[in-house]
Amino acid sequence: MKSNLDKKQIQKKVIFSNKVEHKHWVGDGFNVYGLLRPYENINKFISPFIMLDYANPKEFPKTDTPKGVGEHPHRGFETVTFAYQGEIEHRDSSGGGGVIKSGDVQWMTAGSGLVHDEFHSREFCKSGGVFEMVQLWVNLPKKVKMTPPKYQSITNENIPKINIGSGSELRIISGNFNNTKGPASTFTEINIYDINAKQKDIYNLSFKKNTNTLILIMNGALEIEGKNYSENELLIFDNEGYHIQINNSKNFKALILNGTPINEPVASHGPFVMNTHEEIIQAIEDFQLGKMGSLQAQ
Ligand code: MN
Repeated sequence: MKSNLDKKQIQKKVIFSNKVEHKHWVGDGFNVYGLLRPYENINKFISPFIMLDYANPKEFPKTDTPKGVGEHPHRGFETVTFAYQGEIEHRDSSGGGGVIKSGDVQWMTAGSGLVHDEFHSREFCKSGGVFEMVQLWVNLPKKVKMTPPKYQSITNENIPKINIGSGSELRIISGNFNNTKGPASTFTEINIYDINAKQKDIYNLSFKKNTNTLILIMNGALEIEGKNYSENELLIFDNEGYHIQINNSKNFKALILNGTPINEPVASHGPFVMNTHEEIIQAIEDFQLGKMGSLQAQ
């Protein structure tokens, strides 16, 4: 019996930690750290997640010309946008759109394909201010890659918040945590939480065996098994263990991603993520033929 107990207590280990020196611009609105890309050697540790960009807090002056990314396509996966400070306005060719306000999350299923644009909101441009966001790409399994486009607008009010440790706050965006369910509907099993801790704190997070877990540190620092990790750093864990002991600094903010890996080949090219090279060629052709729609038609 003792050996079973020991097994259950296995701590997950950090197998990759990624911090990049330079930020890059996505359009003229999003100045990001590109912390996750679908590199073949790490796919089995990051699936179903594909890409993560973090625009850490940055001051933008007020302007009459909204900054952002113009019309572009996506197919085969989902884009999840977390607005932390400032607002993002979005329109897509399937008629979806709206403003993602501070604390809100937009879960967009590109599926069979759409085109959209992403800009700082008109309200935000009028006043200027600090802008901070995360964009995450979530892969879809082959059987639903061509699902019709869908848009979930998840407002801060609809995200359950629970207290963990001694006064830290955890928001449940998808999946569940201790029987509390998050609002996002997903095609595969995905748990996404974010954590806000004003004080130093210690607590455990537990996950199912054989699932992948990543942590983005947005503010403060985290100590795991005697090693320190700091802001703008992305940690990728092994998928053997069950627990992560979070030992955080004060003013700690992090995004926790956990999901069941999709064990399928990944073929990715720019805004398209499919299973094969042929499907990528098809996606480019379909986009060029206007089959993913356009914003002009709106
Ligand atoms: Mn996009």
